Amino acid sequence: MKKLKCGILGATGMVGQRFITLLDKHPWFEVTALAASPRSAGRKYSEAVEGRWFSKKEIPANVRNLAVSDVADIGKIKNKVDFVFSAIEASKDEIREFENKYAENDIPVVSNNSAHRWTKDVPMIMPEINPHHLEMINIQRKNHGWKKGFVVVKPNCSLQSYLPAIAPLMKYAPIEMIITTMQAISGAGKTFETFPEIVDNVIPYIGGEEEKSEQEPLKILGSIKNNEFVNYNGIKISAHCNRVAASDGHLAAVSVKFAKKPTKEEILEAWKNYRPEPQQLKLPSAPDPVLIYREEEDRPQTKLDRDAGNGMAITIGRLRECLVLDYRFAALSHNTIRGAAGGAILVAELLHKKGFL
Ligand code: NAP
Repeated sequence: MKKLKCGILGATGMVGQRFITLLDKHPWFEVTALAASPRSAGRKYSEAVEGRWFSKKEIPANVRNLAVSDVADIGKIKNKVDFVFSAIEASKDEIREFENKYAENDIPVVSNNSAHRWTKDVPMIMPEINPHHLEMINIQRKNHGWKKGFVVVKPNCSLQSYLPAIAPLMKYAPIEMIITTMQAISGAGKTFETFPEIVDNVIPYIGGEEEKSEQEPLKILGSIKNNEFVNYNGIKISAHCNRVAASDGHLAAVSVKFAKKPTKEEILEAWKNYRPEPQQLKLPSAPDPVLIYREEEDRPQTKLDRDAGNGMAITIGRLRECLVLDYRFAALSHNTIRGAAGGAILVAELLHKKGFL
């Protein structure tokens, strides 16, 4: 099978580097173009990331000598790719402008950035939960007069731990959720070397994260009516987001109340039988199972469980009655794999399978 050629915008960053290691030997996609800020432009990739290559794996041979372009220089990238992944750190206005420019130039964009998450015709996709929202792409193309290009985003990393656990329970109508997240430092693009103040510490604030954790699920669980997204309004979410001294992995403690309270066995059964579209389609990055329930009373643990399903599975544990709402549990996902690069690659696989790329 001929592989699709992809570019990575923000290729030198924490998420960009994850894209590079995860796409090495990918069965459908091949990295053919790299772009970053003007600071890295014009350098060989291996030189541009010298001293900040975070992975224990070597830089893949096919990427090491590729020249890094300036993200703004679309002309240099345009003929080298079928689509791009976007993981740039810049202002929201700049990012929206870059991503629209790529789409306008017939290049589909699969983005990690938050800039376009609330754009009214941009789908925010968790492939297991709302693959049907991809139909908005046709409306987006029509709105802009774009023929081949489009922008699709994935949601914030904080919700990837608990929303997949709630999705198979929607038939029991969850109506209230209280979530406390314990989020790794790689979510801020940091390591212990670059973020020494986190050692022996917990910081009970991550700018903008609580709002994203509370609001993005409503778009993902929502519907499309009259060519527009309509948020789901059946659930209220309250989030406390904390930065903790873990390198990778976001753990969430969740309490939830249902309109139709299930038994504990029904919840465990729903999680066990959850086999949504990416797993049925056998997409290359789709973990099967996607939800793993651990019976041990001290799991999931960030360090032990974040790599489950190659970092793409969600590990759940400690399901028990809640004295305030109905049930509580803990859930964990890998923030830079499932929550960022891996999640975006899964979106691209779904797009390809459905004929959008
Ligand atoms: P990062 O490590 O700081 O990397 C930022 C990347 O953007 C680098 O490649 C950088 O290039 C490039 N860049 C910076 N300014 C630019 C500009 N003006 N024009 C073009 N490129 C520019 O950040 P990150 O952690 O990888 O995050 C990237 C994006 O993904 C952010 O929007 C973040 O919110 C989002 N995200 C991160 C995570 C996570 O877990 N880390 C999860 C989900 C989403 P240079 O190297 O040349 O400076």
